[in-house]
Amino acid sequence: MNAVHFVARVMQGREDHMQTIERDVVIIGAGPSGLTAARELRKAGHSVAVLEARDRVGGRTHTDIVEGAVLEVGGQWVSPDQTALIGLLDELGMSTFPRYRDGDSVYIGPDGAPVRYSGEMFPVDEYTGEEMQRLIDLLDRLVAEAGPEAPWNHPDARALDTISFHHWLRQQSDDEEACDNIGLFIAGGMLTKPAHSFSTLQAILMAATAGSFSNLVDEDFILDRRVVGGMQSVSERMAADLGEDVILSSPVRTLRWSGIDGVDGVTVVSDTTTVHARYAVVAVPPNLYSRISYEPPLPRRQHQMHQHQSLGLVIKVHAVYTTPFWREEGLSGTGFSAGSIVQEVYDNSNHEDPRGTLVGFISDEKADAMFELPPHERRERILSSIAGFLGPQALEPEVYYESDWASEEWTRGAYASSYDLGGLHRYGRDQRTPVGPIHWSCSDIAAEGYQHVDGAIRMGQRTATAIHLELSSGLQSTGTAQGA
Ligand SMILES: Cc1cc2nc3c(=O)[nH]c(=O)nc-3n(C[C@H](O)[C@H](O)[C@H](O)COP(=O)(O)OP(=O)(O)OC[C@H]3O[C@@H](n4cnc5c(N)ncnc54)[C@H](O)[C@@H]3O)c2cc1C
Repeated sequence: MNAVHFVARVMQGREDHMQTIERDVVIIGAGPSGLTAARELRKAGHSVAVLEARDRVGGRTHTDIVEGAVLEVGGQWVSPDQTALIGLLDELGMSTFPRYRDGDSVYIGPDGAPVRYSGEMFPVDEYTGEEMQRLIDLLDRLVAEAGPEAPWNHPDARALDTISFHHWLRQQSDDEEACDNIGLFIAGGMLTKPAHSFSTLQAILMAATAGSFSNLVDEDFILDRRVVGGMQSVSERMAADLGEDVILSSPVRTLRWSGIDGVDGVTVVSDTTTVHARYAVVAVPPNLYSRISYEPPLPRRQHQMHQHQSLGLVIKVHAVYTTPFWREEGLSGTGFSAGSIVQEVYDNSNHEDPRGTLVGFISDEKADAMFELPPHERRERILSSIAGFLGPQALEPEVYYESDWASEEWTRGAYASSYDLGGLHRYGRDQRTPVGPIHWSCSDIAAEGYQHVDGAIRMGQRTATAIHLELSSGLQSTGTAQGA
């Protein structure tokens, strides 16, 4: 068989397996946001189909078993302000357990020496401590002024969005250690990009979506609890309720939408299924919007906006030990260091599991450097860095695993997306605006819960409400909301 015949056979085979269905709403992506949108729309009496590229649901949440160890490869922690997620957990009858946090934490400052401490403030010298507190207070004030919903409306939005967080911090303080530590909470800790590559307004948004900057720097708040059974099971439970309306291994390639030829609704074509629907919900992160061909093309402003949103990069490292050995030394397992390869480490032991699990994070340029090394050398460097916090026993885990989301076709980074310098005040106000029958839903464009599962759920609920209102009133916006 020559190549042309082979391709023709494959195409024919695909067509033979194609199904065509009709629904009120088609949802692209079975992460927590898409599944919430589908769940809420179904509850409101509308028919749905969810098309998912992967052979599993959950998107950036994935609870996997690696060499016998249960690992949260993606999103996992729940904080007390994440009421949409907590409400859904209640609705699904699921429970949570607290992160282990008894004992001292460890801080490694610029001199490279580990120092034990307790309480919230790092054991830095008096002046650095005062400067850190002053920066936190200043950021808390800006965060309260800007809020999570529309930070681009802050009177100083343009000024704050056109200076990098790195340079803004150094305008406020001459204490390098204080600037590095405060930068770490947002840069390495959340956006997973270097602090010189995103704006102060973006940093303020990140903190505003967690309630305050103080909340964000308080690991007991932001990394409070985990879901028994794993965070992915939230999506699995929603998918089970939706049954055959969730179609896996079905990457969407084309979205035809009305607006030019006067045809109402959408036709969405995936590798297995064509769905005719009134509305489409694109529930994938913005860096993947352009993997779908839109016919007709999206408006100019969307094309531009999407090119200014990108995912960060972080390696989430899991190391499982026979016992949580650090607890015997009176250590909580928590460690911070702006200068180390692993800049945060936590006790991540599983619910009712006698083994001890540590999780560490290596962000942005440090992750680049680690990925240049051969795997065995990378493992050695990363474990040595963890041992710098918790001692040499950390060098010998039973199980070692690196989450590598940047290599995943249907994600391409971690944790979530943010704008480049100046992008947030320029485009942010349009990021949630529908384009005709196309709605956008993911954690990356959420207000409260931005970048988190909670934000994904809030966006799913918000999108479902908007579509339900339009379907119930018989309205359908057929033009583009943003001008072409
Ligand atoms: C390593 C890591 C750690 C994290 N830690 C936390 C944490 O502790 N707490 C927390 O709250 N959040 C955390 N997050 C973030 C959280 O997981 C995400 O914010 C959340 O999963 C986003 O949900 P979503 O539905 O918006 O998008 P996603 O979860 O990305 O789901 C999108 C879905 O769309 C699918 N898709 C993409 N393109 C197509 C296409 N063309 N056709 C069909 N399907 C498509 C994808 O396969 C995916 O299933 C973490 C994320 C990572 C990666």
